[in-house]
Amino acid sequence: MRILVTGGTGFIGSHLVDRLMEAGHEVLCLDNYYTGSKKNILHWLGHPNFELIRHDVTEPIRLEVEQIYHLACPASPVHYQFNPVKTIKTNVMGTLNMLGLAKRTKARFFLASTSEVYGDPLVHPQTEDYWGNVNPIGIRSCYDEGKRVAETLTFDYHRQNNVNVCVARIFNTYGPRMQVNDGRVVSNFIVQALQGIPLTVYGDGSQTRSFCYVADLVEGFIQLMNSEHQGPINLGNPDEYTVLELAEKIQALINPTAEVQYKPLPSDDPQRRRPDITRARNLLEWQPKIPLMDGLQRTIPDFAERLGVTYNKVVQV
Ligand code: NAD
Ligand code: UDP
Ligand code: UDP
Repeated sequence: MRILVTGGTGFIGSHLVDRLMEAGHEVLCLDNYYTGSKKNILHWLGHPNFELIRHDVTEPIRLEVEQIYHLACPASPVHYQFNPVKTIKTNVMGTLNMLGLAKRTKARFFLASTSEVYGDPLVHPQTEDYWGNVNPIGIRSCYDEGKRVAETLTFDYHRQNNVNVCVARIFNTYGPRMQVNDGRVVSNFIVQALQGIPLTVYGDGSQTRSFCYVADLVEGFIQLMNSEHQGPINLGNPDEYTVLELAEKIQALINPTAEVQYKPLPSDDPQRRRPDITRARNLLEWQPKIPLMDGLQRTIPDFAERLGVTYNKVVQV
């Protein structure tokens, strides 16, 4: 099948590209390299089934494809807040263009949405029928509201133009190939512990997140895309940890004497987050398989290699 992956040189996108290429598909990988890197897909350059397209999704493009995985959008708060207007354009105009493409080509369209549509949730764990608690004018709004509009557009294209769509609400995901300067918590803590500098905990570290290993997530993408379901469907790992517990796990795996440095909590930082994945379990027969400690041990060597730091010891925990 001929498949377009937007944001295909990014963290999750590049793992999805690997999975689709390994299954023998023809993959068009589209990216503007804002937070992605050619290095993530270098191993496919020259392969007859692979095509790399440098393009910004806010501009229209004509391609012939059968499936569209639409991931293009910076995901780390540091990067999506750097140019918030651009983040909104990417989510609104970018998603509009990809839906227009899906309408013309009759491709099935997959939107990479986010747990951020639930904002700072008042319902816990979060179910798909919860409408969220989102600040429309805060520093995270460009991303949260941008993704909410992207979901709205997706369902309106379905209702108005009969486009075949599905929406995944992705919860915090980690793994190899996150940029060293990505700024999200898992990559920050790993980089800091490997470099022997203090782990920066924002606030008192009591806020929670639920971390999914990237290979598990990508499997959920494929199952949703190849199902009949529209969603939205939560995809994430329901094992919930405080940020401080995450710091302790990374200390245990890399450097038990690494210090913790407390920094101010950014505004609108959600206090708790955990997916209810009953829908994914029932409709897709999907659930994550890789526990946090296993996933971290698969992730750390990749960071050590890119940082040029020796890492050969895992403390037994
Ligand atoms: P990432 O920043 O590593 O990847 C995003 C990719 O999109 C990058 O390659 C970037 O260059 C590209 N991109 C950004 N703007 C673009 C534009 N205007 N035109 C073309 N390409 C553009 O992030 P990621 O973690 O791989 O996230 C991928 C998708 O999954 C995003 O849509 C994100 O919102 C969603 N998501 C991720 C997480 C997570 O925990 N990683 C959680 C929820 C949702
Ligand atoms: N679009 C695109 N590629 C296509 C088809 C459409 O980029 O193959 C863009 C198109 O330029 C427009 C958007 O998608 O900006 C929405 O397209 P649609 O046909 O729904 O709306 P219209 O062009 O009628 O405004
Ligand atoms: N965080 C932290 N230290 C860091 C980076 C993030 O304590 O160096 C916290 C952040 O305040 C948030 C949680 O970790 O409470 C997850 O942040 P991330 O940016 O990874 O994702 P998101 O907030 O979008 O879920």
